[in-house]
Amino acid sequence: MLRNTVKSTATSAAARHFSSTSRKGMKVLCVLYPDPVDGFPPHYLRESVPDISKYPDGQTAPNPKAIDFTPGHLLGSVSGELGLRKFLEANGHELVVTSDKEGPNSVFEQELPTADVVISQPFWPAYLDADRISRAKNLKLALTAGIGSDHVDLDAANKAGITVAEVTYSNSNSVAEHTVMMILGLVRNYIPSHKWATEKRGWNIADCVAQSYDVEGMDVGVIAAGRIGLRVLRLMKPFDVNLHYYDSRRLPAEVEKELNLTYHDSPQDLARSVDVLSLHCPLHPKTHNMVNAELLSQMRKGAYIINTARGALCVRDDIAKSLEDGHLGGYAGDVWYPQPPPADHPWRTMPRNGMTPHISGTSLSAQARYAAGTREILENFFNNDPIRDVYLIAQGGQLAGVGAKSYTVEKGKASPGSHKA
Ligand code: NDP
Repeated sequence: MLRNTVKSTATSAAARHFSSTSRKGMKVLCVLYPDPVDGFPPHYLRESVPDISKYPDGQTAPNPKAIDFTPGHLLGSVSGELGLRKFLEANGHELVVTSDKEGPNSVFEQELPTADVVISQPFWPAYLDADRISRAKNLKLALTAGIGSDHVDLDAANKAGITVAEVTYSNSNSVAEHTVMMILGLVRNYIPSHKWATEKRGWNIADCVAQSYDVEGMDVGVIAAGRIGLRVLRLMKPFDVNLHYYDSRRLPAEVEKELNLTYHDSPQDLARSVDVLSLHCPLHPKTHNMVNAELLSQMRKGAYIINTARGALCVRDDIAKSLEDGHLGGYAGDVWYPQPPPADHPWRTMPRNGMTPHISGTSLSAQARYAAGTREILENFFNNDPIRDVYLIAQGGQLAGVGAKSYTVEKGKASPGSHKA
């Protein structure tokens, strides 16, 4: 049976285990993507996933006191419950899990006014705009199970004193791998060639290769060289490409030297200089719609764009038009706006697209890390212990931690991406 909502009520006896300073009897509202159409649990191909305990910059992977799930299992859908139910119920909290997130009659809207914590994944975002936040009188913590908290109106969250946190680094390398796959897939014309072999049952070599190139020797650039962007640069280095980047802060000189990077001081200058442009900055007022008709017109004919960051970094129709006009060589990505997108969203059907649903950061490997990170943040929150600075986006009425570095807020204006279009 497919479930789209699962509820529980806390036991008051368990709630007594908490110290006097801990938060008790909280209601946790968790919005997750629907279970697989063939039912839950799915058939797993592998018995385990590698255990990653440290990230490339030395940051430790999430380390909650315990976990109640099997790493490598599906945790991000409704029945997976991010592996949180046992922990929450044993500690006297209530858990409501649902995928029903849109419209006034949705389970999300109905449960929100009494929720203390909202957990949401960017793949199936529970948009928390100012209107919803105004009705969420009890809300104290908006927790992103993953990375990217643009689905929360950060100005409204700050006004309401809501803490916003995410599991920084948990799926950054996952996204970087997906990005490399998409770069190669577009440049080498993989998806159309695969269709010739499987759907069309053909052997049409000429049709496949008429738009297929080597990436070797190309100029490849990233907008933002943070955790994902820098990883993409490192992964692409062995392909003997010329690497470029733009970021609001320049990388250390030794990293630029190691990767032989060319720095550009504006997105426009970068876009003019590359054959492949990959987007890796967060969505906030300064990056919203940064890829528009004007920037596209400055790009080389046949250039490719990869977007695994956020759909609203790009002007939807400008991308589709540039592909239709034959200027862009291809566009691949896994991020859309809104999510899920309508059936007639032009990115589903535009020419030379390599789109997937938003999956790059929710491989089974990534889920194990961000589910553990979600639990770590909840343990700290319930115990009134500090949440790791590197997980914080906003706290105490202002941007905080990693959020103070990477996000901007315009006072009185909704964060782009925080409400369903
Ligand atoms: P990081 O915080 O490590 O990197 C973000 C980088 O963006 C930082 O270097 C930051 O610079 C830079 N930046 C911020 N604003 C600008 C700007 N206006 N112009 C140029 N650069 C800017 O995050 P990650 O690399 O881990 O993730 C990046 C984004 O990728 C996330 O915010 C999210 O939107 C998306 N993502 C997508 C996933 C998916 O499944 N598709 C999963 C995970 C993330 P600095 O801080 O130095 O100022």
